[in-house]
Amino acid sequence: MTEAIHGILKLTKLFSQRPDLIQGPGGNTSVKKDDKMYIKASGFRFEEMTEETGISCVDYQPISNFFFNVEATDKKENEESMLKIVDNAVNLKSDGSQYPKPSMETGFHAVLDKYVVHTHSVWSNLINCNSKRLELTEKLKESTGFEIVSIPFVSPGFGLSYLVTQALIHAKANGKKKPEVFLLANHGIIAHSDTFGKVKEYLDSIDTSIQEIMGIKADYPSAKLIALEDAWKPASDFTIEMIKKYQADIGFFEQVLFPDQTVFFKGNISFNDSQPSRISIGSDVISYHCKEREALSIHETLTAYLFIFDTIMSQQSLPKFITAEDIDYINSMSMEKHRKSLFE
Ligand SMILES: [Zn+2]
Repeated sequence: MTEAIHGILKLTKLFSQRPDLIQGPGGNTSVKKDDKMYIKASGFRFEEMTEETGISCVDYQPISNFFFNVEATDKKENEESMLKIVDNAVNLKSDGSQYPKPSMETGFHAVLDKYVVHTHSVWSNLINCNSKRLELTEKLKESTGFEIVSIPFVSPGFGLSYLVTQALIHAKANGKKKPEVFLLANHGIIAHSDTFGKVKEYLDSIDTSIQEIMGIKADYPSAKLIALEDAWKPASDFTIEMIKKYQADIGFFEQVLFPDQTVFFKGNISFNDSQPSRISIGSDVISYHCKEREALSIHETLTAYLFIFDTIMSQQSLPKFITAEDIDYINSMSMEKHRKSLFE
């Protein structure tokens, strides 16, 4: 195993089996070595990454050059140019076959330091999906002392990588310290460093500080599943209790706190037992009618959504949802389709 592949597996393991940080195939990690960047392949779960699976390898310099020089003009054109550059940068394995398609977030990984971790931490999303986002971010900066940049909501892909690069350019041009952590509105968090242990330290400290700032004592609910005869059900009562508490209907789930929700919820929820869809919500139980891997992604996403919603509501604040226009764009993206196709 090469040193870099060993590095990315070791880094990824620190964040695996943590449904409070990663839901479904979300989030990604990368490690740079010389002119190569090893990065999580699109559509894989953290624990599915092995020496042979779920890792891509790209030449990161052309991708980084693109983002440092590109002008954001037309969403569609920018997205297409980026995909072409990333496609061309994918390396061949020693047996001549191509490495799998890299994460749709390859752009921001390419412009950041040697070790990069991006998660959908529910703790950071308590700030990122909060109507008091900016005020809470200021408190977090004060308590951690980290160089934190707050990025407004943009569609994952070109838009996000572009804004991360712009933050680096802005800091340099103004003689400021390089941002160490990026909080992404309605999305998650990115940390990077040239030192292996630093990234984990940033992310752990931030989660702890957010829990302190918001006075959160309770543990994160279990997101495990129990097998039924022909379906799956949650091992914990948390999700059904929340659904009852907020009298959740279809409209409740159409309010979007973060992009992955649309991938898993849209058109998949029914409240009618006689016609179960992927997510069937009865009066006392939720059941998932699909393969285990997909049921787990759905359940982790549902648990995160309800946890963030409920915690923000109990803090005398209001959640901040994403607009319909942003959501349509996410559903039409080709990379997102690619990711969706892995569940079929
Ligand atoms: Zn993400």
